[in-house]
Amino acid sequence: MILHSKPTIGKDEIKAIKEVLLSCQLSQGKKTREFEEKFSEYIGTKYAIATSCGTSALHLALLSLGIEKQDEVIIPNYTCCAVLNAVLYVGAKPVLCDISEEDYNIDFQEVKKKITKRTKAIIVVHLFGQPANIDKFLSLSIPIIEDAAHAPGAEYKGKKVGSFGKVNVFSFYATKFITTGEGGAITTQDKKIYDKIMDLREYDKKASYRLRYNYKITDIASSIGIVQLSKIDTFIKKRRYIASIYDRNFNSLPVIIPKIFPNSKSVYYRYCIRVKNRDRVKKEMIQSGIEVKKPIFKPLNKYLNLPGFKNSEKIDKEILSLPIYPSLKKNEIEKVIQTIKVKL
Ligand SMILES: *Cc1c(COP(=O)(O)O)cnc(C)c1O
Repeated sequence: MILHSKPTIGKDEIKAIKEVLLSCQLSQGKKTREFEEKFSEYIGTKYAIATSCGTSALHLALLSLGIEKQDEVIIPNYTCCAVLNAVLYVGAKPVLCDISEEDYNIDFQEVKKKITKRTKAIIVVHLFGQPANIDKFLSLSIPIIEDAAHAPGAEYKGKKVGSFGKVNVFSFYATKFITTGEGGAITTQDKKIYDKIMDLREYDKKASYRLRYNYKITDIASSIGIVQLSKIDTFIKKRRYIASIYDRNFNSLPVIIPKIFPNSKSVYYRYCIRVKNRDRVKKEMIQSGIEVKKPIFKPLNKYLNLPGFKNSEKIDKEILSLPIYPSLKKNEIEKVIQTIKVKL
């Protein structure tokens, strides 16, 4: 079976964990600070805070903006449930918004229609590693939370995503772009937000009481993250190389391939095509030994029984995510291409 996604783990990660285990400093400590410094330097922000996962990063990001009951947060309808959960954690109202057929990211015109006096933030997810048109969203003068869980290293107008929003989040879950098993990070340029998140992430040894969390990462996880981060540019190069081979081969087929935009550079966390008989093609690809997937389990409006998300529902019916990851071999790429050609 050619797997759909696979973490790229080598001797260096194993050596890093071993060192931490033998050092006896297992929970959040020196390694985490090192990971945070290197991550903020890589993304190009003043601050980075590592967290237990991407969901806790989102929760802290919303808390840092003071979002609470009565507030509305606009989120894309076509994204992972974690985004919806985080908005509900703070008691705010999630306002779902349809996506664009061009880049599968939250649609700017639709967002404008959903803004009210109560809108306190917009979560912009850079879906599948393809940067959203962030300039437009920044022009709205509403705090932007970039969710770059799919897109560390992706660029918009020469700057990395996760450096534009007021506060931004990443995930290092096992199958994400780089991994720490479970883990996440928040980036920001704002000292006040940084201080607030640092305070909320851990509960102990505080002068006064308030509701705080245990959203710390471990030094074991951070030590893997440091090694993964040192390889991220080679991961990106490899993914872009595979995407270029797919592009070249699928260009002339009756499928829609990921679009390329002049202002941005995708990191191809997912390589998704759109096909008419998706369910049949998906089934036959799997029978041929290639694990392909629906990249999003369900649009959020389907969980909440809300009508009227035309693009999300159309894309959800047609989209098919193909294997793409740094360790995918040449003969495997070739098999994916040949099988698609036969099964379409
Ligand atoms: C994975 C993911 C998250 C949540 O991250 P976890 O580390 O699994 O909590 C949030 N947003 C997006 C877009 C994701 O893909």
